[in-house]
Amino acid sequence: MKAPSGPKTPSAPSSRHGIATTLVTAGRDTEAQRGFINPPVVRGSTVLYPSAGDLHAHRGEFQYGRHGTPTTKALQQALMALEGDNCAGVGLAPSGVAAITTALLAVLKSGDHVLVTDNAYRPTRGFCDGMLARYGVETTYFDPMIGGGIASLFKPNTRAVLVEAPGSQSFEMSDIPAIAAVAHDKGALVIDDNTWATPLYHRSLDQGVDISIQAATKYIGGHSDIMFGTIAANARAWPMVKEAIRLLGVCCGPDDVFLALRGLRTLKVRLAHHQASALEMAHWFQARPEVARVLYPALESDPGHAIWKRDFTGASGLFGIVLKPAPQKAVDALLDTLTLFGMGYSWGGFESLVIPFDCSDYRTATAWAPGGPTLRLHIGLESLDDLKADFENGFAAFNAAK
Ligand SMILES: *Cc1c(COP(=O)(O)O)cnc(C)c1O
Repeated sequence: MKAPSGPKTPSAPSSRHGIATTLVTAGRDTEAQRGFINPPVVRGSTVLYPSAGDLHAHRGEFQYGRHGTPTTKALQQALMALEGDNCAGVGLAPSGVAAITTALLAVLKSGDHVLVTDNAYRPTRGFCDGMLARYGVETTYFDPMIGGGIASLFKPNTRAVLVEAPGSQSFEMSDIPAIAAVAHDKGALVIDDNTWATPLYHRSLDQGVDISIQAATKYIGGHSDIMFGTIAANARAWPMVKEAIRLLGVCCGPDDVFLALRGLRTLKVRLAHHQASALEMAHWFQARPEVARVLYPALESDPGHAIWKRDFTGASGLFGIVLKPAPQKAVDALLDTLTLFGMGYSWGGFESLVIPFDCSDYRTATAWAPGGPTLRLHIGLESLDDLKADFENGFAAFNAAK
């Protein structure tokens, strides 16, 4: 019962609210938390039933830790508000890869065919070529720039299409609405790895996507301190996703659930900063004599810019640069000289990162020949003058080693 002077829960987010308000208010239940703003980190397996009657009827909001806790409920409500009105539910997974594999298993069965973009996250390909192949699901990779031309790749048993835009190494922008229109015409579901933009900058489920994946390890967590994945689905796909989560036993540790929710509260300010810094750095790299090309759809010169501008409301802090041809030892001298740009996988945290990449050895539908060594950069929240100075030192070592 609500005491007359009890703590107020902010009104549930509604379409009247701006997205910044939604990110701050969604999933909060002040009264249930005795006035505290955030939910507790509920560690729990067993939930006790007050009576035999309740037990037989499976009565109670929470039944078992794997199926949900007050902590997971708060995060799921907040994610649903962020994903928008077409979101029927959000599943939580222990990593981005687990979110992708769970989504694929949810919609595919033995004998099916799946179309996967050639720029998909590499472990996604590993799952398709490994476990899905073993279970009798056939994968065909397609050119990320194929658009409506994807129609010719459909077979009678094509059940799903997996897109990722932009690719997290090569940064091509796919025309997701065009691909989705064909897929739906053919009765297939569309899965989008939306990690780069997050639902804040790309509302996948409003653009024809049925299942929208986040490696929440990246920008949702935002601090390089959790592994996490989310699977948002529309009304058509949610029953399948929900069933797969239940049957596979997919669930997450409560600390990570809490940290994902905490990250979500500041997503908008962090992403705005990543975006502004990345854009400035991208322009700075464009003017460097060592750089042949910058791969970033937010740049007007980028081949994906028109689609990005049409379908996305922002760009995150991850982009690529193609260096002018140079020996590996020059690239290594650059990498070894950088101090603020750490060398490491993943991205989306507060810190800047650099990693060399080469897609040419695993692509099958398209050739990757950028014309020089390629680096992927994550622009963190550091001062831009320092980031530029770091790369000035790096380029000096690069030029000296050429
Ligand atoms: C990192 C990443 C994943 C996988 O996320 P994990 O949490 O590391 O399993 C999936 N897709 C993209 C685009 C990623 O960058």
